[in-house]
Amino acid sequence: MNKPLVAILSGAGISTDSGIPDYRGPEGLWRRDPDAEKLVTYEYYMGDPEIRRRSWRMRRETGALRAEPNAAHRAVAELERSGVPVRVITQNVDGLHQLAGMPARKVLELHGTAREFVCTGCHVRGPMEDALARVDAGEDDPPCLRCGGILKPATVMFGEHLDPVVLGEALAVTKACQVFIAVGSTLQVHPAAGLAGVAADQGARLIVVNAEPTPYDDRADEVVREPIGTALPELLRDLR
Ligand code: ZN
Repeated sequence: MNKPLVAILSGAGISTDSGIPDYRGPEGLWRRDPDAEKLVTYEYYMGDPEIRRRSWRMRRETGALRAEPNAAHRAVAELERSGVPVRVITQNVDGLHQLAGMPARKVLELHGTAREFVCTGCHVRGPMEDALARVDAGEDDPPCLRCGGILKPATVMFGEHLDPVVLGEALAVTKACQVFIAVGSTLQVHPAAGLAGVAADQGARLIVVNAEPTPYDDRADEVVREPIGTALPELLRDLR
């Protein structure tokens, strides 16, 4: 018997238990400090060295790379290990699904990853830790060691396009899955919201796990409001 393909779309809410703030949430950094949004906006980042220096300082100080996966990330990885075909589509850039044990090839990062840097000139990539080590050593805006270009995190900033290959794969997974679980996502930002709609249209079982209501709750087969850290492991155990 073929086991059903489970697609898991994760948003900021799955990582708050790991200490990673939801920047867009009601208490989010971008609500409290509108200027902070410039740090992750491509136009400002490329055009203003002071924005870049602040941006590198912020990455150094937030310690996001030190965050650990939580029970929800681990439950997703366990489901995959149990033999159920699982694909993760994530809006997060923290890499915590992979750290929890999900094979990297089964995780589609819609917004890129904060665990790597990329050169805006020659597109070379490397571990973010290497770039941050240079900041620690006194370079406040470290240039590319190969071409001298401006380095940025390998995340999709405001004003940048999503990777069409990643987006295409996410759409293919969504069209092929039998179960689509949206967890910790407000389902208000494109393309995540659109994917939930596609899943429902093609007849997948749509499950929404989120503290707040989402625009797709009325199309969902199941809506779970309980805390993600306990609700998701329970839900995934049942799927096994
Ligand atoms: Zn370069």
